Amino acid sequence: MLMKEKLRLNFRENWEKHYKVDFLINQGFVRKVCNKCGKGFWTLDNKRESCPDQPCQFYEFLGNPPTKKRFDYIQSWKIIEDFFKKHGHASVRRYPIVCRWRPDLFFTIASIIDFQRLGKEGVSFQFPANPLIIPQFCLRFNDIPNVGITGRHYSCFCMVGQHSIYDGREGYWRDRCIELDFRLLSGPFDIKPKDINFVEDLWVGPGAFGPSLEYFVKGLEIGNAVFTEFRTDNSNVQEMKEKVIDMGAGLERFSWITQGTPTSYDIVFEPILRYMKKQTGIKYDSEFFLKYSKLAGTLNLDEVNNINKMRHQIADQLGVTLELLDQKIKPLEAMYAISDHTMGLTFAISDGLLPSNVGGGYNLRVILRRALGFIDDFRWDIDLFDLCNLHARHLRLMCPELSEHLDEIQKVLDIEKRRFNETKLRTKRIVEILVQKGEVIDEERLIKLYDSEGITPELVQDYVPDLKVPTDFYTKVTEKHMGEKETILGVEINVSGIPPTELLVYEDPKKTEFQAKVLKMIDDKYVALDKTYFYPEGGGQKSDVGFIGNVPVPDVHRVGDVILHRVIGKLEKGKIVNCSINEYRRDILRKHHTGTHIVNVAAREILGNHIWQHGAEKTSEKARLDITHYDTLTEEQVNKIEEKANEIVKKNIPVKIELLPRSEAEKKYGFRIYQGGVVPEDKLRIVSIGNLDHEACGGLHLEKTGDVEFITILKTKRIQDGIVRIEFTVGPVALKYLKEKEALLEETAKLLKVKEEKVPEAVKELFEKWKMKRKELRRIRRKRK
Ligand SMILES: [Zn+2]
Ligand SMILES: [Zn+2]
Repeated sequence: MLMKEKLRLNFRENWEKHYKVDFLINQGFVRKVCNKCGKGFWTLDNKRESCPDQPCQFYEFLGNPPTKKRFDYIQSWKIIEDFFKKHGHASVRRYPIVCRWRPDLFFTIASIIDFQRLGKEGVSFQFPANPLIIPQFCLRFNDIPNVGITGRHYSCFCMVGQHSIYDGREGYWRDRCIELDFRLLSGPFDIKPKDINFVEDLWVGPGAFGPSLEYFVKGLEIGNAVFTEFRTDNSNVQEMKEKVIDMGAGLERFSWITQGTPTSYDIVFEPILRYMKKQTGIKYDSEFFLKYSKLAGTLNLDEVNNINKMRHQIADQLGVTLELLDQKIKPLEAMYAISDHTMGLTFAISDGLLPSNVGGGYNLRVILRRALGFIDDFRWDIDLFDLCNLHARHLRLMCPELSEHLDEIQKVLDIEKRRFNETKLRTKRIVEILVQKGEVIDEERLIKLYDSEGITPELVQDYVPDLKVPTDFYTKVTEKHMGEKETILGVEINVSGIPPTELLVYEDPKKTEFQAKVLKMIDDKYVALDKTYFYPEGGGQKSDVGFIGNVPVPDVHRVGDVILHRVIGKLEKGKIVNCSINEYRRDILRKHHTGTHIVNVAAREILGNHIWQHGAEKTSEKARLDITHYDTLTEEQVNKIEEKANEIVKKNIPVKIELLPRSEAEKKYGFRIYQGGVVPEDKLRIVSIGNLDHEACGGLHLEKTGDVEFITILKTKRIQDGIVRIEFTVGPVALKYLKEKEALLEETAKLLKVKEEKVPEAVKELFEKWKMKRKELRRIRRKRK
C-alpha cells in the first residue's frame, strides 16, 4: 500500500513522462488537477475543475444518454469487435471462466489472466496474437453484497480486453491505445468528444506496475488502460523489454451509456428480467426506479457504513416511507442478483466446475444458495435452470457453447436444489437447539453454520427474526476459501552442490538394469547418482523400487533437478554401481497409469463434460481416480464406464508422447491438458490416447491401450461433496482379484446350496427379504416414537 502511494506521487510529479499522450494534446485535451480529490485528468472542457470520477461527479447519463445510438449487450460487443478488427486486432474467443492454467486462481478474474503463465521465473505472457481483442467472461466473489444493488457491480461479467505487447517494433503503446479507445467512443458509439475524459491512475500487481488512464463518459468509468512497463523485486525497478497494454472495460457499460437505463442490469439481463417479472407479477415502476437510481447511483456498501441510514435519506428525498421504498426496490434487487448468479453458474458449470464445499466449487455454491434464498424469501415460482437456459439463449451469438451444456446444468441444479431443501429441513432443528442452549448467534457462528452445514443466514433468519446478518457475510465466507488451490510441494532436502541427475527413464521405460556412479550420500538415507532409470514419485504415480548394488531402494524422489533414491544401507561415493528396477512393479504402474487416463475418458463420455480428474494414485496393487461429479454413481453408470474403458483397451489405440511448448500445447489441445493440475514448465510433456485424450503428464505409459489387457472397477464411492472415487485395477492384478471373487462365489453358492449360475438370483432373493425386514423394523421404530 505504501509503495502504491509513493508511486502515485512520483507519477503525478512526472506526469509528462507517464501520462502525456500526444494524440490527446493534438485533439485539444488539456491536463487539469481535480479541485476535489487532487487527481490529474485530461479534458476538452477548459472550464471543468473536478475529475469525472465518483464521488467528484455523479452519473449524468441516467435517463439522458449522451448519444443518439442505442445498442444492446450483444450489439455492443459486435461493434467493439468490428472496430478493433478493422484496426488490425485479432478477435480471440473467450477463455474458460474456470482458470485451469494458473495454480493460484480458481476463476478467471480479468482478461489479462488468459495470457499470464506462472513459471519458475515468475509471470510470463503468452499472447495468441498481437494486438488482440477478447470478450472475457470473469467471475469475482469479492463484491457479492453489492451485486444487484449498485446497478454496476457483478460477480459474473464480460470484460472486453484490448491487449498488445510492445517491444519497440511489434505491437503498440500508450498513444495508439488511447487513440483507439477515444475513436471507438466518438466513432461507432457517437459520443461527443467533450463528454469523454481521462483520469490518471496507476496499477500495481505482483512484481510489475505501470501508469494507467481510466476513461469516463458522463461520470461512468467505461474502461481502464493499464500500461505495464516496470518490473520490480522490491529493491530495484527495471523497465520491461516487452511492455504490456492491459485495457479492460466492462462490456455492459458500453451499452449502458447508450441507453441510460436505471441500472446496467436492465440491459445485460434483459430477457431474464422480462421472464422473471412475468413469472412473479412484479410491476416495475420505471420512473420511480430511475429517480431512485440517480440518488443511489454512488451507493457502494463497502463505502457506505450504514446502509439503512442511507436508504432512509433516499426515501426522504423521494418523499416515500422506508417501507414503501423497500417494497418497490428489494424485489428488483433480488432479481438482479439472481440474474447475475445464474449467469455465473451457467458459465462455470459449462466450463466443468461444480458447486461443492471445497475450492472454487464453494464459491459457486454460495451464489447458488444465495439465489435460491432470494426465491424462497419472496416465495417466487422461479426455477434457476429456466434462467440459465435464457442466459445461454441470450448469449448464443457470443458463446454458442453454453447451449451444449444445458443438460448437465439442469442435472446439477436439480441435485443442488434437493440438497438445499434438505438443509432447510435440518436448519429448524439445529437452530432450535442453539436457541434452547441460549447460544449467541453471532457472525462467527453464522460462518460456522454455513461452512459445516450449508445453512445460510437467511435460513436462520426464518427462526430468529431479529438476527443481525453482516452485509459482507458472503464476501467473508468466500474470502476464507480464496487461497486454497493446491500447490505442489517436494521433499525438503538440501541438494545444493549436487549436479542435476540425468533422468533417462522416459527414453526407455522398459529398461530395468543399468550402471551409474554414486555422486553423494545424504544423511545416510538418500543417494544421488549421475544418471538414473528409476522413476521418481510424481503425478500420482508411485516410484519404482529396486536395488542399487545390493542395497534395497524402497522409494525415489525428485528434489529440483536431483533424483534422490532412498536406500537401506551404505554406498560409497564415486563408485560405479549396478542398479536394477523391479520389472513387475514398473509394468503394473505403467498399466495403471495409462488405465487411469482411459477410465477418465470413459467417465467423461458416460457422465458428461464436467468430469475432471481431481486426484489420482497409481500403486502396484490398484489405481484410484478421483473425478468431479455431483452424485454417487449408480451400478449402471459404473458398468457403462467399465465397458467403455475396456472398449478403448480393445481398440488398441497408440499412446503418443510429445514435448510441446506450452502455448502450442494449449492451442492444439485446450485446457483439458491440465487434468493433473498446472505444470510450471515452458515445455509440456503431452500424453495422447489417439484423439480421445491429451494430458500434460510426467508419468510412465504403455505404447498401446491394448497393453493394459483389461480394466476391472473394484468400487466407487462419493468421498466428499462433488468428488467420486473410482478404484480399479488392470491386467494381471485384475485377474488375481477376479479369481478371489470366483472363489468367494463358489463358497457363496455352497452356502446358499444353489448352482453357481443361480447365485445372483438367490442373492437377489435374500436381498429382497432383507429389505422387507428393514422396512418392517423402521415402521416399528417409528410407531414407538
Ligand atoms: Zn476528483
Ligand atoms: Zn497421467
